Amino acid sequence: MFVTILGSGAALPIGARRCSAQVLNIGGFKLLIDCAEATQDRIRYNHLKLQSISTIVISHLHGDHFFGLPGLLSTMHLCGRTETVAIAAPKGARQVIETIFELTGNHIAFPIEWHEMDFDHGEQRVLETSRCTIDAFPIYHSVPDYGFRITERPRGNHTPLVYAYCCDTAYDERILPHIEGVDLLCLECTFSNEFEPLATERMHLTAGQAGRLARLAGARQLLLTHISARFREPDLLLQQAQQEFPNTLIAADNQRYEISHNPTQPTDTTANEK
Ligand SMILES: [Zn+2]
Ligand SMILES: [Zn+2]
Repeated sequence: MFVTILGSGAALPIGARRCSAQVLNIGGFKLLIDCAEATQDRIRYNHLKLQSISTIVISHLHGDHFFGLPGLLSTMHLCGRTETVAIAAPKGARQVIETIFELTGNHIAFPIEWHEMDFDHGEQRVLETSRCTIDAFPIYHSVPDYGFRITERPRGNHTPLVYAYCCDTAYDERILPHIEGVDLLCLECTFSNEFEPLATERMHLTAGQAGRLARLAGARQLLLTHISARFREPDLLLQQAQQEFPNTLIAADNQRYEISHNPTQPTDTTANEK
């Protein structure tokens, strides 16, 4: 089980970081998590085979997590897709996508199985696949927003691995029961600790807050993403998070991170870039 980061930046697709998107691979099953602008380019760049993605989850409808979806679906259609795509997204996503296709005269021939999320508390199973279960829970942002916990289905003596993703969210310990003990916890980290008032105002996390959540949740490893473009050298963010939770990594675009019960350093796949 591993995750390929397609975009690890916040808000603006500039510099070395594009906006939020990642592909979780569970024994060949591929789950796309968030779909910012140009996600389909990054899928191709990382040789992930667009048509092999059958399931997509969207955390919230801010553009830096969602605006790549109509283009990606359109390309799937133009490349001859006939198989169903399952999409779990906040309420409203379906109307946006269907309106775009209706008003622009574009068309999708393959079926979309929509799972629209509209709940204020607790946790709900939004999707089950042959390889994993996907549970969603509310997180705390300026628009309805959901975190995801993806649990690998058990196979033989193999203990299920668990991955969780929370992006974007303010610091709120109500998240903790949903991310408790996960093997890899991917949290947003938009700001350094010095920007805590701004992080609070904009409902984002600082590095220290992300580290604290990982520590309180008892996660095995923390992966920071959604890095503001103001931090071109993110070592400061890493140091601040590691003061709370030493086993922390900062996500880089086009890099692959293994999920295991005994986490190690990431596999460098940035050779593609050279
Ligand atoms: Zn965002
Ligand atoms: Zn947002």
